[in-house]
Amino acid sequence: MSRAGTIDGPRFALAREVITGALAIKDLPRLAEMGCEAAALQYAVRGSESAEGRAALAVEVRGSLRLTCQRCLGGFEFPLAATSTLELADSQTEIDAADDERDRVLASKSMDVAAIVEDEVILALPMVPMHASCEAAVAHAAGKEASPFAALAGLQESGAGPRGPGRKPNT
Ligand SMILES: [Zn+2]
Repeated sequence: MSRAGTIDGPRFALAREVITGALAIKDLPRLAEMGCEAAALQYAVRGSESAEGRAALAVEVRGSLRLTCQRCLGGFEFPLAATSTLELADSQTEIDAADDERDRVLASKSMDVAAIVEDEVILALPMVPMHASCEAAVAHAAGKEASPFAALAGLQESGAGPRGPGRKPNT
């Protein structure tokens, strides 16, 4: 069990309790397995109820992750801000049978807070992590200095079409 601890889901929701804290990559084993190198995440889980009046957990996660670009294998920072409301379901059968868009989580008296937060983070990640402008990262590997502005310049160049012979590399 992680240091974020566990909550009694139904009781927590009913009493409108709140738990907040921070997680690092060592608390997030599935993210580590997915190639996430580091994380600094703040979370808040609040007892709540869904729009339908069912007991629910409102989950909020903010921070950044260091992901591996699947094109050049370089690392990059991915800013994260995710919120959602998870309805507490009484059984896995109920979750499987649901055919609406509501998010559900299996309720229990011992719900792992870090696992709930990690689920939320995984859902918010890109399917294929990649630099916003991977060419800039290649230039960086060749010795140029990469900055957010260099990445932006790369984006502008790739979208600008052919240019005249007076074009100079961005310094
Ligand atoms: Zn890349």
